[in-house]
Amino acid sequence: MYDVKSPKAEEFINNEEVLATLAYADENKDNIELIDAILEKAKLKKGLTHREASVLLACDNEEKNQQIYQMAQQIKKDFYGNRIVMFAPLYLSNYCINGCVYCPYHMKNKHIARKKLTQEEIVREVTALQDMGHKRLALEAGEDPVNNPIEYILECIDTIYSIKHKNGAIRRVNVNIAATTVENYKKLKDAGIGTYILFQETYHKESYEALHPTGPKHNYAYHTEAMDRAMQGGIDDVGLGVLFGLERYRYEFAALLMHAEHLEAAFGVGPHTISVPRIKHADDIDPSVFDNGINDDIFAKLVACTRISVPYTGIIVSTRESQACREKVLPMGVSQVSGASRTSVGGYCEPEKEDEVSEQFDVSDKRTLDEVVKWLMDLGHIPSFCTACYREGRTGDRFMSLCKTGQIQNCCHPNALMTLKEYLEDYASPETKALGEAMIAAEIGNIPKEKVQQIVIENLNNIANGQRDFRL
Ligand code: SAM
Repeated sequence: MYDVKSPKAEEFINNEEVLATLAYADENKDNIELIDAILEKAKLKKGLTHREASVLLACDNEEKNQQIYQMAQQIKKDFYGNRIVMFAPLYLSNYCINGCVYCPYHMKNKHIARKKLTQEEIVREVTALQDMGHKRLALEAGEDPVNNPIEYILECIDTIYSIKHKNGAIRRVNVNIAATTVENYKKLKDAGIGTYILFQETYHKESYEALHPTGPKHNYAYHTEAMDRAMQGGIDDVGLGVLFGLERYRYEFAALLMHAEHLEAAFGVGPHTISVPRIKHADDIDPSVFDNGINDDIFAKLVACTRISVPYTGIIVSTRESQACREKVLPMGVSQVSGASRTSVGGYCEPEKEDEVSEQFDVSDKRTLDEVVKWLMDLGHIPSFCTACYREGRTGDRFMSLCKTGQIQNCCHPNALMTLKEYLEDYASPETKALGEAMIAAEIGNIPKEKVQQIVIENLNNIANGQRDFRL
């Protein structure tokens, strides 16, 4: 039975409820009256239920779809302005005991190079990331209790936060590691992580079990209930995601929203972010063998419908996507992108040797961080290196209330300008710097409170004079 508050995976992601939702969406995909009513509700910017959102996703009326895109753009503007937060993944280890059929780190892959960074190697990788200008990382690791126990992850986090190279610093470490225990989530919280990210891969239980035939990840309930344990461990910023291509996208979308509704109902706070990765070619992985691949148009519709359905949740698009695809979906509601990513273990300070490749998947957007930053500004977005919220204790429902009261413009916007200024001073090419300075000058006037404007102008001068790390 479907029960949004239940602690049991099969009750809060209830298969019958997902199927009933898809049937309801099919029945109503041409019901213009209902679609108009859902769009009216979406205008209130308080989100939609999984059933309502699924009707919008199923709708193939061109005029209504244009309205969906416009609304997604409006909601993105109202809640996130024109800021895009930057981050990079850091692969710690690709040792893994799971058998995920879409991932080249699966245990049976005997020819991929297995690597695990030592603390000295982490210093070199993080120094290289700091030298690009990154301030926020997402740690990635395979699941292997012997090679990558929680103590190893905690030690890496400590090392990363301790590295201060020139004006560089990693100020927020998000963590994407396998589902674990409440006790381990507590340890991650105590280590000062930002968001705990875990992709569901697929919400469809039978497919999930077939796609994860061996290893601890085979356990659907343990994986699906991980965010509940993370919340119990005190982590109230969690990041959801589906690996699109594994299952039917409409099934995944409805279930993903049910997961968000569950977290809101059970813990009073929805997901901090949603990621929308698509399967990519990798070492021994051919994405075309998976039947449920989605094209760029459906991908854009998914992003837009997600933006409308969960206005307070950030949407992350990685370098799995090409420049052209990222450009298409950015205005539809994306709030975070990665830049200059390497998906290999140890790929930042020097390129991997050809016979020692450890990459998780091919990256489509291979540009440098400076190129990505410049490109964003050319398109009118403010690249933000802000990490203020969790450092100021604005996590979980405190962050959500900042969004809900519209205070983001007095807080995130100034923080974006100040952290962009740091980037321009320390890392930008002359062209990017000139563009950025002009953007900051023009954007100061968009800070609503005059007092905040004055503080920001003062801090920008301080940054030009060598001081760092201002935040509101
Ligand atoms: N081991 C952890 C886990 O089990 O969740 C960390 C995950 S892994 C380092 C990060 C994510 O990469 C996975 O959750 C999966 O969605 C994604 N991934 C794996 N293989 C991929 C592929 N071939 N193409 C794109 N993304 C992939």
